[in-house]
Amino acid sequence: MKRTKIIATLGPATEKKETLLKMVDAGMNIARLNFSHGSYDEFKNIVQTLRLVEAESGHLISIMQDLQGPKIRLGEIPEEKMLVSRGDIITFCTKKGVKGTVHVPYSALPKVVKRGQRLLIEDGLIRTKILSTSGDKVRAKVVSGGYLKSHKGINIPETRLPASAALTVKDRKDLKFGVQTLKVDAIAVSFVESAEDIIRVRKEIAKYTSRRIHIVAKIERAEALKNLEQIIDVTDGVMVARGDLGIETKAEKVPIAQRKMIALARVKGKPVIVATQILQSMVSSPIATRAEVSDAATAIFELADAFMLSNETAVGQYPVQAVKTLARVAKATEAEIFRNQELAPTATTIPSMQEDGAIALNACVLAENLDARAIVVMTESGFTAAQVLKNRPKIPVIAITKDEFIAHKLNFLWGIEKIIVKKGAYRSEDMKNQLKKDGTLKPGEKVIFVKLSDKKRSLVALDV
Ligand code: PEP
Repeated sequence: MKRTKIIATLGPATEKKETLLKMVDAGMNIARLNFSHGSYDEFKNIVQTLRLVEAESGHLISIMQDLQGPKIRLGEIPEEKMLVSRGDIITFCTKKGVKGTVHVPYSALPKVVKRGQRLLIEDGLIRTKILSTSGDKVRAKVVSGGYLKSHKGINIPETRLPASAALTVKDRKDLKFGVQTLKVDAIAVSFVESAEDIIRVRKEIAKYTSRRIHIVAKIERAEALKNLEQIIDVTDGVMVARGDLGIETKAEKVPIAQRKMIALARVKGKPVIVATQILQSMVSSPIATRAEVSDAATAIFELADAFMLSNETAVGQYPVQAVKTLARVAKATEAEIFRNQELAPTATTIPSMQEDGAIALNACVLAENLDARAIVVMTESGFTAAQVLKNRPKIPVIAITKDEFIAHKLNFLWGIEKIIVKKGAYRSEDMKNQLKKDGTLKPGEKVIFVKLSDKKRSLVALDV
């Protein structure tokens, strides 16, 4: 069993049911719908297919809507891609369809940039230097070339772009569609700067549903690193969005930020996703590089909860192999962490959660000492499961919760073997009998039950 979760961005390479079935079998847990690309009709079809795949495969699939945020992007590039080489002059134009220009649908562009600044495309893959601006055009010289592709992101690191406000007009419209029509389980918020950005998104969600949708704060701005602790306190999860973070700060700062972010989020029991260029070479190669495999293993040693694949599964040639590769790396690395005491995570709890944290930690210790078959957590919001799982127990965790929606939220957490949805009240003795009946528990085994979510906190060990 693999414990680390895999999020796959869906796109043209992964819209077929057969491909999705293979990806889920290979270990994909969460589908990411990237709202920087794609139409509402396309998203509706994908969600329909995903729910069919979920029913057919018997594997839980959570759906995460990723809002574009206040990011400047290229417009449509004719014939999908256009080669630009060092020394070429590109004229960017804020109006669509002007001959000899590349469309950038951001009317303020010529006003916010200056001669001499860098304009970077696709996480810095293509680099240009701005020569001049006039009217609705910006001229730039290519410093490092490549293919321009539709809707790829633009960064201008020396310019302070309009304040994030984290929700643009497009984001608000997309969020409404995601929550009301697609019934997504999670929303990833781009270019978060402060805790207020997350609070604003939660209020926006509350206009359309009473469900507590899982919010992921994408950390990709220097400002967000300064406010990290407050952001983690109000969000449900964070993402190390390494693509933009490597431009908004510096590439060499990203591994340091990743390590700090994972450590802080784990103390607080919030899941962390590591994203971007995880297996980048697999966009066009069936085999990952040693460096990519090593980077993924490092994130698992650092105790990340999940990985997010982007181009590898959205447009790559080997989406199923990419998921398989990541699942293999996860299994091997996790096994080593469990085997090697020196790599075992240290216990963490913070003062405000001392009692809950201590009970959860004890459940893990007790389960290991008794060589239990499983730790069964009864969790209404997901809090109990997170408190237990942040200790990275070797003993498998089974979660019992009251509705499908919470089950999809739990899917973001590292290491749940099985999630059972059961309405109404439940006692540990009844749950033990149910798990025995369905074959999960066998006679002679031990099981630990833990519950923190009501006034009667409990931790019990039962013989099957
Ligand atoms: C990133 O920048 O790493 C990221 C995940 O953001 P996006 O792919 O939405 O640009």
